[in-house]
Amino acid sequence: MPAIAEPYRIKMVEPIRMTSRDERETAIRAAGYNTFLLRSDDVYIDLLTDSGTSAMSDRQWSALMLGDEAYAGARSFDHLVESVQESYGFPYVCPTHQGRGAEHLISKILIAPGQHVPGNMYFTTTRVHQELAGGTFHDVIIDEAHDPGSQHPFKGNVDLDKFQALIDQVGADNIAYINVAVTVNMAGGQPVSMANIRAVREICDRHGIIMWSDATRLAENAWFIKEREDGYAHRRVAEIAKEMLSHFDGITMSGKKDCLVNIGGFLAMRDKRVLTKARELVVVYEGMPTYGGLAGRDLDAMAVGLREALDDDYLTHRIGQVRYLGERLREAGVPIVEPIGGHAVFIDAAAFLDHLSQDELPAQTLAAEIFLDSGVRTMERGIVSAGRDTAGNNRHPKLELVRLTIPRRVYTNSHMDVVAESVIRVFERRKDIRGLQFVYEPPTLRFFTSRFEPLPAPIEETATKEVVEPEFATAAP
Ligand SMILES: *Cc1c(COP(=O)(O)O)cnc(C)c1O
Repeated sequence: MPAIAEPYRIKMVEPIRMTSRDERETAIRAAGYNTFLLRSDDVYIDLLTDSGTSAMSDRQWSALMLGDEAYAGARSFDHLVESVQESYGFPYVCPTHQGRGAEHLISKILIAPGQHVPGNMYFTTTRVHQELAGGTFHDVIIDEAHDPGSQHPFKGNVDLDKFQALIDQVGADNIAYINVAVTVNMAGGQPVSMANIRAVREICDRHGIIMWSDATRLAENAWFIKEREDGYAHRRVAEIAKEMLSHFDGITMSGKKDCLVNIGGFLAMRDKRVLTKARELVVVYEGMPTYGGLAGRDLDAMAVGLREALDDDYLTHRIGQVRYLGERLREAGVPIVEPIGGHAVFIDAAAFLDHLSQDELPAQTLAAEIFLDSGVRTMERGIVSAGRDTAGNNRHPKLELVRLTIPRRVYTNSHMDVVAESVIRVFERRKDIRGLQFVYEPPTLRFFTSRFEPLPAPIEETATKEVVEPEFATAAP
């Protein structure tokens, strides 16, 4: 593969701190071995999430200065609407403070209590809002999405048979809408094909079902269509994205991903009645319909960012960088989820630490070990994230993963080299790594705030040790 350099020059820099092993040991102990509880100042390279962590361009920063902060009728809103109309093809837009604000409103508008909402794998905030509105979520993604080894090129696709089976079972009238995510975050940033979107549309048309998209990573999805689907190789990503969106009645958008901003979101749609309802609700929950909980300058930055994210060269580098990291790991024998997705590399922690049982928290342990090695922050997506079932037992998810999420336009491939070398170093001494156990567990969304400590060493080992390590409990929170 030819080298792909960053398609930008660096005009402003943010220094980051390199730390010693001693400092990192103190930091991870104080954080209860949970990377969510680390202070950003103690992190060298931050791969916790790609959400709201993008670097804005000089054009976005310029647009920010031109923001119109009028309470009502600000021209910043007009700029966003023009941008959405031009790039996404939807006539109507309702801004919200971020993606979940849009999910909240559309769930209230489209779901009558008792109705069903199919989708291609759940997303945390999406499903919560559907359930709060009285809906029941149904996963209709293809089976390959749940298999980390499957090489299917469009692992995000809707399984048409599962969708049809749900219609047959509950009746089209009881389906509020179908929500198609592009790409699918929880499946590892896997794309949906144009053919699949068209086929879902046909089923929807036949049954009079509304079709919305969680379009959070639509630009990355369009790039994969260009790369992998017949007939799209010579089209511009911006055109492909517009064609994709032409099949949907509307979208919810988290601007924190493919609009390249640090905060923001919106709903966009074709049906004026939905817009009217959204405007009635947005004033209650977010703000006036022309700002939706954002500052005028945020709308301007988003209007510019959503265009920039559809640039072919930007995306080729963006996805190329994720792939670059993934391929370096794969070449060293590190087990990862394949194919490598659009926004993150997922390490198969169960295979990486195959001497640990799932109850010894392999992914949580690996995330802590990577931080200890180099100051690189990653995220657990395994048994800790899965939480407990209604009976109070730990859920044991099929996938036990560590996510290395790449922020957009923030790091260079030299940073990726540092990350890869660190993971490979940890891989080489994996047999010496002991698991973790909970010392504090909150009742819900436990991955955010749980605290852990290393499992005690086997008896023979502790017996020969002169100094016992100071207990984690003595560290300040
Ligand atoms: C981030 C995200 C959301 C929610 O967006 P926020 O801006 O974080 O509220 C919804 N869906 C997907 C797939 C996401 O990744």
